[in-house]
This record gives sequence, structure tokens and C-alpha cells, in this order.
Amino acid sequence: MGKVGLCLAVGCALASCAIAAVMVGRRVKSRRRWWNVVRALDEFEEAASTPVGRLRQVVDAMAVEMHAGLASEGGSKLKMLLTYVDNLPDGSENGTYYALHIGGTNFRLLRIQLGGQRSILGHDVERKPIPQHLMTSTSEELFDFITVSLKEFIETTNGANQIRGKDLGFTFSFPVKQTSLSSGTLIKWTKGFSIDDMVEKDVVECLQKALCRTGLDMNVAALVNDSVGTLALGHFYDKDTVAAVVIGTGTNACYLERADAVIKCQGLLTSSGGMVINMEWGNFWSSHLPRTSYDIDLDAESQNPNDQGFEKMISGMYLGDIVRRVIHKMSLESDVFGPVSSNLSARFVLSTPLMAAMHEDHTPNLTEVAKILEETLNIKDVPLKVRKLVVKICDVVTRRAARLAAAGIVGILKKIGRDGTAGITSGRVKSGKSGKMRRTVVAIEGGLYLSYTIFQEYLNEAVSEILGEEIAPFVTLKIMEDGSGIGSAMLAASNSNQNVDTNTTVQGL
Ligand code: ADP
Ligand code: MG
Repeated sequence: MGKVGLCLAVGCALASCAIAAVMVGRRVKSRRRWWNVVRALDEFEEAASTPVGRLRQVVDAMAVEMHAGLASEGGSKLKMLLTYVDNLPDGSENGTYYALHIGGTNFRLLRIQLGGQRSILGHDVERKPIPQHLMTSTSEELFDFITVSLKEFIETTNGANQIRGKDLGFTFSFPVKQTSLSSGTLIKWTKGFSIDDMVEKDVVECLQKALCRTGLDMNVAALVNDSVGTLALGHFYDKDTVAAVVIGTGTNACYLERADAVIKCQGLLTSSGGMVINMEWGNFWSSHLPRTSYDIDLDAESQNPNDQGFEKMISGMYLGDIVRRVIHKMSLESDVFGPVSSNLSARFVLSTPLMAAMHEDHTPNLTEVAKILEETLNIKDVPLKVRKLVVKICDVVTRRAARLAAAGIVGILKKIGRDGTAGITSGRVKSGKSGKMRRTVVAIEGGLYLSYTIFQEYLNEAVSEILGEEIAPFVTLKIMEDGSGIGSAMLAASNSNQNVDTNTTVQGL
């Protein structure tokens, strides 16, 4: 080989070495980036973990906070509001009753016909959107629209007959300070409503006046929130129902308490000796909650920072957004999601139902995950291992949410001594077993629990895990679909003069 040939050969060898080195370097870098993402996921999983020991700490904290909220006004982040519901439906109710349910952009009109012996003979529901302009107009305009719709609904469901049911249940899912079963003042509007002339006014009075203007001779017999409606429906079917939980866009819970345990209301007398307490549990907080940097950011950027901390880890409004935040951070730190998509910075762009669809994608290649990443987040051509990573993120977020909600439920059971322990007195959690355990039912409603199968399974499983195999068989979670609305019609029934057969007492205290 001549000199030139030798130089060429050496040159080629050097060039090949250089190319190989660059390729190996790239591969090492890309592997390192992948491992960075895996490490970030591990860290997130660790920070969001909910081993049963931690859940039991949350259970105790919930029970203690409940006690504190009942002890004094402002004693806890849990408001523990009196509902003035001391008579729950027991199945003996008879007659036709109506209910109105306002809680968001849609409102619902309901009619139920009860035939005694826990039977519902007829049930009509109509959903109607509230026109945008009425959400910020005057209380007269809003309520006239609602009562005119009610009149039309009655005419369609009742035909030409005279109105049979006169008692109306009113589910109003905004913060209200209740002053009796059928009165309460609006504390503030939420969810896009802003009608200044109604704030601090009695919402039942507003409705009653509009009924009058519309020519409807009806009586608002019960003003309730959605969790109380759910409890009422649960109790109608099963007298062992002692608590209700709603897990939908937001989350809340209520339960039956002994009147003498409501320390902040000394001398509270009720015919049954009990009272339903609206916990407003979305605002629960405890240092035992597994909070991550994503939760801190979500809270800081929300419309209500430092508020509704439990709700922000659990409910449908937020879960998708937590997943979006994790993907966004990973995308900024690595190129496994390709170039950083600007959609990843848009709050709430990934809704919880879409997140659930990715989580529940059973196709072998996770094509649904790929589709949602592309269509919603504008992230294209993601390899399978990255799609699997996305499913894992959804799993971590959902598992934590469901298990924390389960701990909240067991916290309620602990407060009233239905978890197999001696309950809680004087703000202290008692340890040890109580000896006897009674059958206990918790009514559940809300789109997240009803429609998201994995969430439901995780929650049910965690309740059993926390209670342990000896106690768990005594506790049943029962779905009460549409309980928010039907339950308030039932409360109108059980608190109506019309319903002569009813002689309800709160069972299960
Ligand atoms: P609201 O809480 O507004 O009264 P729902 O109880 O119907 O209404 O709950 C609706 C919420 O439930 C949605 O905002 C969404 O977060 C959640 N949700 C509904 N369907 C699904 C689903 N298939 N998967 C996951 N979450 C869902
Ligand atoms: Mg609802």
C-alpha cells in the first residue's frame, strides 16, 4: 500500500471511530435522559405514595378535625355545618314530590312518585342548561327562568291534571349558611355565577317568591346540598346508611351525628336525637397528606389558593391537571416527549375523563394514549415505552386520589365508632377495639366514582385494606346515582305535612 493509500485508510478509520463515538455518545445521552424521566417518575410515585400506615394517619386526622369542627365555629378547616336534617326518609313515604337541583351550568327538574314500602313508582328527570346571561343577571330573572321551567315540567309530567305534589325539595350546591331545614343564606357564588343581589339573602325566599310570581302554589320543604340528598336516598333504601360522599367535579361528604356531639351548638334538640352534618370535607387538610410539588403549584395557580386542599388531590376537576403538570415537567427536562408542546402549559387542557381514557386504554399498543397525547396535548409519535410511562403517571395520580378518599370515609366511620374501634371523644382518637360492630352503609355518588372504574376499584379496595378483614365485611359502599336530586325530593316527602304515613326517625345512631 502506498503512502496515499495508508493515509486514506487511517483517515477512514478515524472518521468511523468519530462517527461511532458520536453515536454511542448520543445513545448514552438519550439513555441518560430516559433514566432521568424514570427517576422523576419514581420520585413522584414515592412522594404520592399512600401505604396503609399513612392512610391510617389520615383517618385519625380526619376524625380529630371533625371533632374540632364540631367543638367550635372555625375550630377546624372542616366547617361541619348543621343541615337541620334530623328526619331522613325511611321508605314509608307516599305521594308525588318535585325537586330542583341547581349546581352548575345545568339544572335538573325531578318528579318522583312514592308508594310506601321503599318503592319509587315513577321518576322523571329533565336537564336544562342555564343560559349564560342569567348566571350574572338578577335573582328575579334567574329564579323566574327556573320556576317557569318547573311549571312547564309539571305540565308535561302531570298532563292536564291538577298539580298533585305540592312539596318541593331544593338542592342548591353553592355555599349556604343554613338557618333551618327550609332556609339558608347564600355565602358566596362559585362556578361562574355572580348575582350580587342574592349574596347573604335567603335562597329559599328567592325561590318561594318566584314560585308565587309564576303562579305555582308550591312549598319549598327542604333545602339541601348534594351530599345530603345522597344520604337521604341511601337511607330511603337502607336504614343502616350513616354517611354519604360525592366525588364528581368537586367532593363533599355528610354523615349522621348525635345532636349532643355538636358541642358548638349547646342544647341542640332534635326529635330524633341526631342531625346530619355537612362536613364540606373538600377543605380538609392534614400534614399527613402526601403532597407533591405538583399539588403545591396547582394550588398556587388556582382561583382559591390555600383552599379546598383535599378536593384538589381527589376530585374530577383536578386529577387530569395534575397528570398534565407531571408530563410538562418531564417534557421540559428530557426530550422523550419530543419538542415541548405549548399545550402542556395550558391549565385544565387535559380533562379527567381524557386522563381516565388513557389510564383505561386496553389496546396492546396504547393507541388511545397516542391519540389523546396528539389531539389534546399536541405531542406526536410517542414511542410505546413513553406511552406506558404516561399510563403509569395516570395510575399514580388516580390511586392516590381514590385511597385518600377511602381514608376520609374511614375517618368518618371512626368519628362515629363504626370502624371497629371505640371512636373518638374529647378530640382524642381511642385505640383498641369496641367489641361490637354494626352493619354500616355509605352512599356514594358523583361522576368520578360512577364512571371511572379503576378509581372505584382502588377506593373500594383501600376501604377494606384500612378497615382490615375482620371489620371490612360490615361496611358497604352503595352507589346512589342521581341521589343529589332524588334525595331532596325525598326529604321534601319525609318533612311534608302531606305525607301522613311518615313517622320517620333517624336510625342508626
Ligand atoms: P357534578 O360534580 O358537576 O355534579 P358529576 O357528578 O356528573 O357532576 O361529575 C362530573 C365529573 O366527574 C366530571 O367533571 C369529571 O371530572 C368526572 N367524570 C365524569 N365521567 C368520567 C369518566 N368517564 N372518567 C373520569 N372522570 C369522569
Ligand atoms: Mg353532582
